Amino acid sequence: MDQVFIATKNKGKINEFAAFFEKKGVKVKSLLDLEKDVDVIEDGTIFEENAIKKAETIGKQINQVVISDDSGLEVDALGGKPGIYSARFAGIEKNDDANNEKLLKELVGIPEEERQARFVCVLAVFIPGEKTKTVRGTCEGLIATERSGDHGFGYDPIFYLPQHNKTMAELEKHEKNTISHRANALNILAKHWDEWVHS
Ligand code: IMP
Repeated sequence: MDQVFIATKNKGKINEFAAFFEKKGVKVKSLLDLEKDVDVIEDGTIFEENAIKKAETIGKQINQVVISDDSGLEVDALGGKPGIYSARFAGIEKNDDANNEKLLKELVGIPEEERQARFVCVLAVFIPGEKTKTVRGTCEGLIATERSGDHGFGYDPIFYLPQHNKTMAELEKHEKNTISHRANALNILAKHWDEWVHS
């Protein structure tokens, strides 16, 4: 298999997948390469449901192996919010600045020891004619009190990694791609890849 299709339009995610599959000599195509615009309504209640729906909807249309990613941020002090609503936390779909602003505001006054959070990434793999499979990766950290760094996307500027003394957005691309929730999920996927995707 020399090409894999990723069911996303998110350039940040596409770049991270491309960096991973490049090492395997596998080319990455995404929804940005399709002529027709495809929108999948994410109405599941957990990451797995949304990831499966995205992979299956696109996979059945193009009849090839499709990987989808449903990911987000769980903040303990907010009972796990924004979770599956991470992209639209501030209401405006996919507005990273507004989302970060809202999260920082909701956590004003919360001390460092109560600012635990984790990024979650669920990958679903659609293979024509087979049951869709999922893997889940996480990355633990704390929500900072202000933004820092300009790499990455989404909540990266306010996601602080104590062991690196940096936010995710201050890490170099290759560093994020070693420790992130997506990297962890991809590493689990890599272990199953040959068995799942008969080349
Ligand atoms: P999805 O596209 O519905 O899976 O929404 C994912 C949302 O979660 C993104 O829009 C970001 O707000 C957030 N997110 C997911 N992965 C990351 C990441 O690697 N860094 C920062 N934010 C992320």
